[in-house]
Amino acid sequence: MTCHIDYQAPPGLLDGKIVLVSGASAGIGRAAAMSYARHGATVILLGRSISRLEGVYDAIEAMGAPQPAIFPLNLESATPQDYLAVAAKLEKEFGRLDGLLHNASILGDRVTVEDYDLALWARVMQVNFSATLGLTQALLPLLGCSTGASVIFTSSSVGRRGRANWGAYSTSKFATEGLMQILADEHQGSAIRFNSLNPGATRTSMRQSAYPDEDPQRLRTPEEIMPTYLWLMGPDSLGLSGQAFDAQPPKP
Ligand code: NDP
Repeated sequence: MTCHIDYQAPPGLLDGKIVLVSGASAGIGRAAAMSYARHGATVILLGRSISRLEGVYDAIEAMGAPQPAIFPLNLESATPQDYLAVAAKLEKEFGRLDGLLHNASILGDRVTVEDYDLALWARVMQVNFSATLGLTQALLPLLGCSTGASVIFTSSSVGRRGRANWGAYSTSKFATEGLMQILADEHQGSAIRFNSLNPGATRTSMRQSAYPDEDPQRLRTPEEIMPTYLWLMGPDSLGLSGQAFDAQPPKP
């Protein structure tokens, strides 16, 4: 697994590209949306909190980047009709999609499988995996209209090796890795590439919830891990598909 944290993106890396980011309202998704916009992309901000998405929208406009768009969608209650509606709106406004960052996720509980509430397990699978699957399926035709679309699935270290007390979250990330590999295999030779990206320990509210006793100042910020996000979204990663990447080097 490779990391590109030292990648230096040229300012116009994503000029003219249409990129959708799920969970764009906070944490890593917010940083990615801002970073993609700063590098020239028109970013579709998808998330459940309109007011928080509007904050990102305003920040993007304030830096003079291409005008973004807001697509409100709660992935916990989203249906196949909702995914098709997102695709129809994108088709009407842009006619294609060049990049898709699946970033939205919830943590769920940190208990053993034996103690895990199954209703919560299902909610975690819905937000972290089923919504990812549904959105991808609906957006494949539009991704196929791009000359070189990049689909990035956000993974986790516990999506690559199981760990005690990470139940639903870990399972959802394993499923996501599997989906990425299946899609890459099904689309061999096409212009769409599918890869996974593990951000690694990053200073966000999800990380704080998972590790409440940790000093967040010791962690990289979402902004600091953006080089790999840019590399994987932009043309320097063209031709790579079906691979698992890390946004940060492994801990020494
Ligand atoms: P945050 O909790 O900070 O942000 C999660 C984002 O997902 C928010 O924008 C949130 O929206 C959105 N979201 C959550 N539930 C829904 C929903 N039902 N519908 C729509 N959007 C939703 O998490 P991070 O930034 O830390 O995580 C980003 C990604 O990175 C996740 O996939 C996570 O699993 C992964 N990751 C993070 C690590 C870390 O150390 N931070 C380590 C490994 C992986 P809202 O603002 O409305 O809550």
